[in-house]
Amino acid sequence: MDYLWTPWRYHYVRQAGPEQGCLFCEVLKRNQDAETLIFFRGRYNFILLNRYPYTTGHSMVAPYEHVAELDQAAQETLAEMIHLCQRLQRVLAAEYKAEGYNLGMNLGRVAGAGVAGHLHMHVLPRWGGDTSFMTTVGETRLEPEDLGTTYGKLRSHFEK
Ligand SMILES: [Zn+2]
Repeated sequence: MDYLWTPWRYHYVRQAGPEQGCLFCEVLKRNQDAETLIFFRGRYNFILLNRYPYTTGHSMVAPYEHVAELDQAAQETLAEMIHLCQRLQRVLAAEYKAEGYNLGMNLGRVAGAGVAGHLHMHVLPRWGGDTSFMTTVGETRLEPEDLGTTYGKLRSHFEK
């Protein structure tokens, strides 16, 4: 049997129902980046930490514009999105000695998107042995670092 690997899905499916509005547009509007875990604002995209990380440093790159589909996004937005993924990968390598990465998008609720109306790319650092029995079976994640600490580290790298 094959399993689709969508660890970020579970919490968002529970917490962000379609009636609740768009998480990404809301955090942008609030303009309280430390609280909403936005650690970088680019020209067309911003980067924030996932509040329910699968691994330490689990981030999301999203455009400012509320677009649901890849073909609705402007070329320069997509180019910057990939460029920011590249920077993020360098930062995660430097700060956390990541050994591998998962990058992915879930387009549409049926594909597992918790926030289905707003494009976002997940970037997850990985290390050997980071998928434990607790994670895969128990839906419980063991995070060695609190979000505030991760936020401070990643933000300082992007300020350079
Ligand atoms: Zn939105």
